[in-house]
Amino acid sequence: MIGAGIAGLYAALLAGEHGRVLLLTKASLSETNSAWAQGGIAAAVEEHDSPQLHLEDTLRAGRGLCDPQAVAVLVSEGPDCVRDLERLGVQFDRAGREYLLGREGGHSRRRIVQAGGSSTGRQIVEKLSQLVTQQRHIELLESAYVTELLVSEGVCAGVRCVQNQKELLLRARVTILATGGAAALYERTTNPPGATGDGMALAYRAGAELMDMEFVQFHPTALALPHTRSWLITEAIRGEGAYLLNAQHERFMPRYDERAELAPRDVVARAIFEEMRTHQSDHVFLDLRHLNRELLRERFPNIWEMLNTHGLDPARDLIPVAPAAHYTLGGIRTDLHAHTNIQNLYAVGEVACTGVHGANRLASNSLLECLVFARRAGQAALKVAEPLRTVTPSAPQARPSALPPTLPPIMTRYVGLVRDREGLEYALARLAEMGESALVGRLIAQSALLRTESRGVHIRRDHTEENSEWLAHIIMQKEREPQIQKIKNLTNISGG
Ligand SMILES: Cc1cc2nc3c(=O)[nH]c(=O)nc-3n(C[C@H](O)[C@H](O)[C@H](O)COP(=O)(O)OP(=O)(O)OC[C@H]3O[C@@H](n4cnc5c(N)ncnc54)[C@H](O)[C@@H]3O)c2cc1C
Repeated sequence: MIGAGIAGLYAALLAGEHGRVLLLTKASLSETNSAWAQGGIAAAVEEHDSPQLHLEDTLRAGRGLCDPQAVAVLVSEGPDCVRDLERLGVQFDRAGREYLLGREGGHSRRRIVQAGGSSTGRQIVEKLSQLVTQQRHIELLESAYVTELLVSEGVCAGVRCVQNQKELLLRARVTILATGGAAALYERTTNPPGATGDGMALAYRAGAELMDMEFVQFHPTALALPHTRSWLITEAIRGEGAYLLNAQHERFMPRYDERAELAPRDVVARAIFEEMRTHQSDHVFLDLRHLNRELLRERFPNIWEMLNTHGLDPARDLIPVAPAAHYTLGGIRTDLHAHTNIQNLYAVGEVACTGVHGANRLASNSLLECLVFARRAGQAALKVAEPLRTVTPSAPQARPSALPPTLPPIMTRYVGLVRDREGLEYALARLAEMGESALVGRLIAQSALLRTESRGVHIRRDHTEENSEWLAHIIMQKEREPQIQKIKNLTNISGG
């Protein structure tokens, strides 16, 4: 198992109940995107809701590119995964017997299950990490940086990794990549620095198919103060009634969408971009001043504290915010059991492209995807009964160097929220000069150049409309031309 975010920890725990698991992470157990997740997990856990409504919301947000079968798996198995986390000891917030549910953009119901207010990710990671370290069938290798998947004749037989400057060849019956996304390739990002898309690069080099790499979600409301990292301000706060104001202090979202501040993320991010352009400003404002101070403090304690640390009092001050790279929708193409096109290689969590998000991820569906497909991968992996294969390694691999410092500004400027042909071609030329460590950036830019339309989170200044010709996925595979695969079975709800 490569990666110890929520996807990797959960899959390891489930597989560890029946077999031996080696869990590798390039950092420590606490350094993951998962630990930073604020909003919570979307799941139809209460009677006022249903998996069908959750499915409809997810398909609507995905602008025609979701795989309805994968979404059906996600929403129907989601509530059981939430209950399973409770069985493992995670305590979700409740008011009496009922879950205290948050509301986020694009969801027609309150359905965000939270733990510890806005520290859901941390609570879950801590609990799962504790269980993993107690499980005697799970061996944990921290600071173990995977540099290569050992694949021969289309079968994955393990990995090569570097730990304490020593190279290790590790054989495995099944390899599960749970290495997270690539949003840290951008300058303005909500992600921790480790989210550099390693798993996508490893899988691509080994011959796996990557799908829809152009779709990178920009969170509309990340803190925008000079010389300060782009801390995310969860949209659950907009769910409690916060407004967005432009540089003139005018509320603008109702002009763009009837759901106003609770429209899906792509709609809100585009509206913010338009307002920033119109008023030549690099931010808009989040206005919390009219909300109940005690409720904010209680429901969002760490956001409250973070704002205070930066000298902002949400009850008095407007909060400057702007979009920042947040989530990689594309990734390693997998089937309904998290299996890739390489035998015995699985991918789960943000590194994977299961088809549940389509062109726009609905808020809080990603932790759900981590859980549902990690469970499926864990179950599928247990059925692989082949003996360990002998690996014939290639020449020793150099650990990919750190990101070139010029890469994040290029990604933000030319492969960011709004793109065009000229900028993407320029970015591709510059990224090509940076060699192997810019591979994932190049794949994103290449896919973005091919998709000559605007859809979901992918916005082209030179192709501003959605184009039905582009109801298609872009598949990238090493040594092959990109494939454009049209979607055959369209559903009624898609694109609405
Ligand atoms: C600020 C923030 C808030 C968010 N809030 C929410 C939310 O409220 N709800 C929601 O659903 N989603 C949220 N998300 C998204 C969600 O947190 C992520 O999509 C999810 O946690 C990804 O989990 P993961 O297990 O796939 O990967 P991660 O948690 O990113 O873990 C990746 C793991 O892979 C390891 N790894 C990577 N490369 C290598 C390598 N080469 N060798 C060895 N190990 C490697 C890392 O060390 C790490 O252990 C948020 C994201 C951020 C950044």
